Amino acid sequence: MAERGNENEGEDESETEPESGDERELSGVGATPLSGVGFATWYRPDADPDLPEKGGGDDYDPEAERERFENARDRAREEIETERERARERVGESEAEVFDAHVQFLADPQIEDGVLEEIESGYGAERAVQRAFEGPIEQFEGMDGRTAERADDLRDVRDRLLRSLLGRERVDLGDLPEGSVLLAERLTPSDTAQLDPEAVRGFATATGGRTSHAAIFARSLSLPAVVGVGDALTEIEESAEVAIDGEGERVLVSPSAETSERMTRSEAVEIRPEPVMTADGEAIEVAANVGRPAEINGAVERGADGIGLYRTEFLFLGRETPPDEGEQVEVYTEALDAFPEGQVVVRTLDVGGDKAIPYLGLPDEENPFLGERGIRRSLDPDSELFCTQLRALCRAAGEGAGELCVMIPLVASVEEFERATERFEGVLRDLDEEGTAYDRPAFGLMIETPAAAAMAPALAERADFLSIGTNDLTQYTMAADRGNERVAGLHDPHYPAVLRAIRRTVEGAAGTDAWVGMCGEMAGDPDLTELLVGLGIEELSASAVTIPDVKSAVERTNSERAGDLAEQALAAETKAEVIDLIDAGGGVTRRP
Ligand code: PEP
Ligand code: MG
Repeated sequence: MAERGNENEGEDESETEPESGDERELSGVGATPLSGVGFATWYRPDADPDLPEKGGGDDYDPEAERERFENARDRAREEIETERERARERVGESEAEVFDAHVQFLADPQIEDGVLEEIESGYGAERAVQRAFEGPIEQFEGMDGRTAERADDLRDVRDRLLRSLLGRERVDLGDLPEGSVLLAERLTPSDTAQLDPEAVRGFATATGGRTSHAAIFARSLSLPAVVGVGDALTEIEESAEVAIDGEGERVLVSPSAETSERMTRSEAVEIRPEPVMTADGEAIEVAANVGRPAEINGAVERGADGIGLYRTEFLFLGRETPPDEGEQVEVYTEALDAFPEGQVVVRTLDVGGDKAIPYLGLPDEENPFLGERGIRRSLDPDSELFCTQLRALCRAAGEGAGELCVMIPLVASVEEFERATERFEGVLRDLDEEGTAYDRPAFGLMIETPAAAAMAPALAERADFLSIGTNDLTQYTMAADRGNERVAGLHDPHYPAVLRAIRRTVEGAAGTDAWVGMCGEMAGDPDLTELLVGLGIEELSASAVTIPDVKSAVERTNSERAGDLAEQALAAETKAEVIDLIDAGGGVTRRP
C-alpha cells in the first residue's frame, strides 16, 4: 500500500534547491513518529484582528450592534452545523461532537449576557464579543488537563463570531493544496477536524503539547506532526520547503536534498495487511490500540489485524452526559465492521486515575491511581453505566461483522472479575427475556496489577482471554507513577520484576482456553517483539503507527531463539542486564 509521504515522489522538485547549508532546525514535541516533506502553508485565522475601539459617540446605536451580534451568531451556528457534518463524514461522529460543544458555547446565556452588557456599555459588537469571551477563556486556561483545552473551543467560537462580524472568510482547511505542510500558531479542534489528511503532508504548531487536540488528531490520522515549536515557527515563510520529523521532534526548514529524501523515504514503511507469522511459522496477531472512531481507518491502513484495545473512555469525554445505548451500539458496530475477519477488543469504561469525566462526579482522592478506578467504579457507583455499555456491546456483537471481545480494566481480585461476569450474564439474560437481538461476545480482562498477575491461573479459568496492560502493570509493580517524570527511569518494563509478572500471567493461562495478549505501550516497541514472543504473548496491540514495524519484527523472529532470550531475561537481576541481552539479541528483531 502506498504511503502518504511517497505519493508525490518526484513531484515538486524545487527549481532552486537549497544548499544543505541552508537547512535550519526548530525543535518541538513530536506528536507522531512520522515524517513528511512539503511546502509551508500558513493558517492565520485572524484570531486577534484589528478591532474598532469603543463606540460610545452620539451616533452609537446599541440596538443596531445587538442586531449585528445576533445575526453573526446565527451565521456562526449555521457554519458550525455545516462543518460538523463535514467532520462527521471525514473523521467520525465522535470527533464531530466537538462542534456540539461549540453550539452550546454560542448559546451559553452567561456569554450572551456578557456580550449584550458590553454592547450596552458602549462597545461595538466586535469588541463586546472579544471582551465577553476573555474571562471564560482565562478561567478554562487556569484549569487542569483536558478541561484547560476547553479554552481552545471557546477561542474557536469567539474567532468565528469575529470573522462573521468583520465579514472575513475562514481559510478552508478542508481544501489545502496537495503537498502542503500546514503551519499555525495553534490548531483548534474544529480546525483539525476540517483537515484533509490526503492533501496535507503534516503540520506544525507553535503551541500545544503531547496531549493537545492537535497532537491527538495527528495520531488519529497517522499524520506527521510536531507541536509546541514556539515563536521560531512564525519565521518560516509561506511556500518554503519544510520537513516534519516527528521522531526527531523537529521541523526542518529548507531541508537539504538528502534530508528531504530521508524524511520522505522514512514514511515508506511496508504495510502488511495480512496476519503475520514468526520465521518458524508461529502466528502472532498484531492489532491496534484505538481511542476514537477516527483512529480506526488509520489502523486498517497500517495493516492491523484487528483492535486489541478500544479505550472507550474517549466516547464519554468532552460532553455533558454519557452516550446512550443506541449511540454506543453504532460506535462499536462501526469498529466491528472495519475488521470483518478480525477481532475487536473493547475495554469497558476505565475512569479514575488520571482520566476524569466531570459528569460522573469522581471523588477527590489523595491517591487516585490507587482509588476508585476502572472496574471498581463500574461495579458500584457507575454500575448502571456499566450495564448500559455491556448491553450496547452485546447488541453490537450481533450487528457488526468482526468478532467482539469485551475486556474489563484494572481487575485486582478474582471476586471483582466474578462480579463483573455476573453483571455480564445478567445483561445477557435481560436481552434474552426482552427478545433483543445480540451475540455473546468473548469476555476477558486486563492484567494491570501485580495482584491479577499473581492470580492469573484462577482468572484465566474464568475468562476467555487476558490482555496485559504494561503501562499500569509497570506502574504498580515498580510503585512508579506512570505520569511522573521524576520516576520515569523506574517506570520501565525492562525491569525483570515486570518481565516476571508477564511470564506469571502467561504461565497462569497455560492449560486453560484463555489466550494472552498485550496492549500496553511495551507491545508497540519492535525491539521487544522477540522477547515478548519468547515470553509467550500471542497478540500484540499498539498504536497504529507502530504496526508495520512490529509486524516486520515478528517475521524476523524465530520462536525457539525468542524462548531462549526470554529465559535469559527472566533470569536477569537488573534492568541493565535485560537491555544488554536485547541489544545483543543477534539482530533478530533489530530494525534492518
Ligand atoms: C495499560 O495500562 O497498559 C493500558 C493499556 O491501559 P491504559 O494505558 O489505558 O491505562
Ligand atoms: Mg491501564
